[in-house]
Amino acid sequence: MRLLLLLALIGLSSCVKKDSHMNELFVRVNDTDFSKGRLGLTHNITLDDLEAFHGHLCDGLVVGFLGLKEGLEKLYPDGIVDRTNTRVVSKPSPCLTDAAAYLTGGRMQFSTFYVTDSISSLFVIQRIDNGNAIAVKLKAGVKPARIDKLGKLAVKQQLSACELDELKNLEDDFSEYLLSTDPNENFDIEILDSFSWNPVLRNDFVKTDILNKDAGSCSR
Ligand SMILES: [Zn+2]
Repeated sequence: MRLLLLLALIGLSSCVKKDSHMNELFVRVNDTDFSKGRLGLTHNITLDDLEAFHGHLCDGLVVGFLGLKEGLEKLYPDGIVDRTNTRVVSKPSPCLTDAAAYLTGGRMQFSTFYVTDSISSLFVIQRIDNGNAIAVKLKAGVKPARIDKLGKLAVKQQLSACELDELKNLEDDFSEYLLSTDPNENFDIEILDSFSWNPVLRNDFVKTDILNKDAGSCSR
């Protein structure tokens, strides 16, 4: 019985709790209504939607979703993000870039999306109509240092299967923390007075979320 309880607890701690609060979180977007259509078709994009697009729910996806949501609310105070009028620069993480492209509508081929290491924030989002631009940053100290420490080792494929599980649990706990606290406490949204759109086309970033796909399971 005790063993069953322990297994149940391990099971609970190894994934992000999906409660009703998550479904209340969405970004409201405005798009055109057909292939040659007019602006005015709105949708609410949830974290679940983003997870289906990205492939898994992870701390990077949660950071991206919540950070972009905060930034987009600054750019669109009426609460409806015009995805035909928004461009975005993202740091190269596979999770952040997926969040950026999905939520803003920015795409490389139309020069409304590019990826670079050279920004000091996670994202820069810009409205095309008025040029207003904001930078989205995670506040210093919010992310547990051990996640980055283990993450760097994971990218070098130096973690055992059991250590990968530990990293996943730490990331899931961090996601839960972000989802249960006020985003104002975790993100800085900075208005940029001068921002120049300098798209760079790079396709040599490492897709770090597939490096350990054959690592096997922890047998401890
Ligand atoms: Zn991810």
